[in-house]
Amino acid sequence: MKIAVVGAGAMGSLFGALLAEAGNEVWLYDVWVEHVKTINQDGLTIEREGKTRTLRIKATSAPEQIGPAELVIIFVKSTHTASAAETARQLAGSDGAVVTLQNGMGNADTLSESIDSERVLAGTTSHGATLLGPGSIRHAGIGATTIGAWSETEPGRARARQLSDFFTKIGIETKAVDDVRSVLWNKLLINIGINAITALTAIKNGQILDLEITRELSRHAVEEAMKIAGEMNINVREDAVDHVYAVAEATAANRSSMGQDVDNNRQTEIGTINGFIVREAKRLGLKAPVNETLTALVETLQYHYK
Ligand code: NAD
Repeated sequence: MKIAVVGAGAMGSLFGALLAEAGNEVWLYDVWVEHVKTINQDGLTIEREGKTRTLRIKATSAPEQIGPAELVIIFVKSTHTASAAETARQLAGSDGAVVTLQNGMGNADTLSESIDSERVLAGTTSHGATLLGPGSIRHAGIGATTIGAWSETEPGRARARQLSDFFTKIGIETKAVDDVRSVLWNKLLINIGINAITALTAIKNGQILDLEITRELSRHAVEEAMKIAGEMNINVREDAVDHVYAVAEATAANRSSMGQDVDNNRQTEIGTINGFIVREAKRLGLKAPVNETLTALVETLQYHYK
């Protein structure tokens, strides 16, 4: 299969590498020129459990070099989805599928504004990756991937099943689901309960549980979001708060992705996580004061990075 990855940072490079190693024609597209140059000169280096391998893979900052692809995978941060959508539209030609496995909400809707929504697939992945430097990533963790059709139509669902079979066959264990919005929302609730709080307070995920007052802050943020989900007729797990606590415990030693963004003075994905809840609450005439406060604080913090 001819595959283009739009946004070849930690996760884009990882998925691109796994697909290329299985014999597919993969192109990595990224606006980061030094990264692209290093990959083309020296290959892509992937570290996994202390072992390092180097892969020859095509990378470019010029999408017209790639031509039409059968599959386009979006792995930019959600702050860049709108510009990635325009590139994806060009790369997907008249029949290619476009899949987003990004965090946050709104990415699939943004893609559907540029690309026929029946070709847009969305999902989540529990694989983890870290960018070590230009041309170099660490595959930090392996986990399940779930995808579904954003259009929730039968042709869309057929594409999702096809893609999940294809991913699973090449070693990226993937499940196709009919109700992908629920899957995305359940992941969103975890990010809502952990990311902004850890980013603002410089704590690790597990430390959310140390103080009653922090646990309650996380609970209030998640319960507000659950209320919005209910208004939107989205099914989310009833034990979402306990699930957030369980994830915080299971990843106790980790810094959340938003925490890492703040540590490195990078723009965060707050606008598609807590910020998404604030926008949806406004649209529905409801209030989401906890998420509004967390969003305002993270936006203030990132605006004033030195
Ligand atoms: P990253 O910052 O490592 O990579 C993003 C890449 O996109 C960068 O290399 C950047 O140069 C590139 N980019 C920015 N704008 C672009 C554009 N317009 N066109 C093309 N490339 C562009 O981010 P990441 O950690 O790989 O995360 C990507 C997405 O996956 C995020 O939504 C994140 O939340 C999600 N995610 C990450 C992990 C993880 O373990 N890192 C796990 C699951 C989901």
